Amino acid sequence: MAHIEPHCPTIDRMSTLTITNPATGAPLAEVPIDDAAAIGVKAHAARSAQPAWAARPLAERVDIIRRFRAAIVRELETLATTLTQEVGKPIAQSRNELNGLLGRLDFFIAHAADALADETVHDEGGMRERISHVPLGLVANISAWNYPWFVSCNVVVPALIAGNAVLYKPSEYATLSGEHLVRLLYEAGVPNTVLALVVGGGATGAALLDQRVDGVFFTGSHATGMRIARALEGRLVKLQLELGGKDPTYVRADADPKAAAESLADGAMYNSGQSCCSVERIYVHQSVYDAFVEHFLTTVDGMRVGDPMDDATYIGAIARAPQLDVLDAQVADAKAKGASLRRGGHRLANQAYAPTVFTEVDHTMDLMREESFGPVIGIQKVKSDAEAVALMNDTRYGLTAGVYTKDETAAREVLNRVNAGSVYWNCCDRVSPRLPWSGVGDSGIGLTLSTHGIRAFTRTKAWHLRQP
Ligand code: NAD
Repeated sequence: MAHIEPHCPTIDRMSTLTITNPATGAPLAEVPIDDAAAIGVKAHAARSAQPAWAARPLAERVDIIRRFRAAIVRELETLATTLTQEVGKPIAQSRNELNGLLGRLDFFIAHAADALADETVHDEGGMRERISHVPLGLVANISAWNYPWFVSCNVVVPALIAGNAVLYKPSEYATLSGEHLVRLLYEAGVPNTVLALVVGGGATGAALLDQRVDGVFFTGSHATGMRIARALEGRLVKLQLELGGKDPTYVRADADPKAAAESLADGAMYNSGQSCCSVERIYVHQSVYDAFVEHFLTTVDGMRVGDPMDDATYIGAIARAPQLDVLDAQVADAKAKGASLRRGGHRLANQAYAPTVFTEVDHTMDLMREESFGPVIGIQKVKSDAEAVALMNDTRYGLTAGVYTKDETAAREVLNRVNAGSVYWNCCDRVSPRLPWSGVGDSGIGLTLSTHGIRAFTRTKAWHLRQP
């Protein structure tokens, strides 16, 4: 694996990050970590380079993203293999992530000009009023590992298009994918001063926040998000936090239990349950509960656990070993409080976790309240829409929520009352580049994607223009 050389040879290296394959334990690479001095050099270079980058015509920056897209298509198999090796994501799902990324890039390419265009909002009697969207300046992106291409490109790509310089710290669990991302953007034409890769773990992320930046865009856990918010206390820096969730879905009495079960089992277990918008808890009306549970278990039984490099594998490795302890603790807690374990509930070889299904659950259990971030799900019986809505809202999070029903009016009523950034009718675990991605409560602040997620990397400037 070739590593990107720092653009400043004087950078002082502190130590190295050892990257291992979570499924096999095999070492993949040793990557030098950026210490505070190295980050300072990169930040200074990026800040100096930003005005010239912003002054280039927008069409040139968009063309660079077009070339980046073409490079992803060209190297897709290599990129997917790296992703699977470093995070344990099944290879078919790694390909899906990269193919899905192409649609996001297409959206940014197609909509950047409109989203960033100046607007005349008033023109009368010699007085014109205009709004322009100017880059924030130098922004930091501290990123997660679970969908490293998606979550990094949600920030890095529109930030660059909008004319910002970017200090990009991939997760320490997805550094090799981060290296590829930066390499391909350099090859596509982004100057290596304008975009800088910052390598390391939490301490490196914390050191990055010490730099003078104009925006911090974070994707990760609520706990780290809070640490970042505290670290920025007293500084007037734009902060976006895309955090975790405990995403609920309700299956109404009139839903097709088989179709709902098949869709929701996938929503709960895809990416081995390690998605911010994974279905994390399910409420089912008592009239379809038994049928739903039966179909859910049948679907889960058909999920192949195995070698992430095998095309047929559906459940791969848990990327971070400590998460296995979280899953074990939730399983033990649910069992101790009387839940019925219907499938799984234990670790497997190769740092995998057996797809785990509990019924007879309630909200005294961590399983129904704290993010699991693994292939673990609780299914709770409810008597009415009102009870389902109350339980769905009984959370500090609010990323996504869904309902399965044949009745669109009923669906809208439920979804209107649920506190979540994204709501789903007869679908789940879905992100669209055309729609904003945001959270309520402890799921975060700010948004990415959609035209709003392009403007998120700008500030609006007001122009009062009187004709002499
Ligand atoms: P994490 O919080 O452990 O790490 C995220 C990033 O923060 C990493 O790059 C890490 O090195 C860095 N970091 C750690 N401590 C830091 C500190 N003190 N200062 C600055 N940076 C620091 O999260 P993770 O395990 O990478 O990701 C999983 C979490 O991310 C889950 O909760 C998931 O729901 C959430 N997530 C949310 C979204 C979303 O769009 N809302 C998307 C993907 C993942």
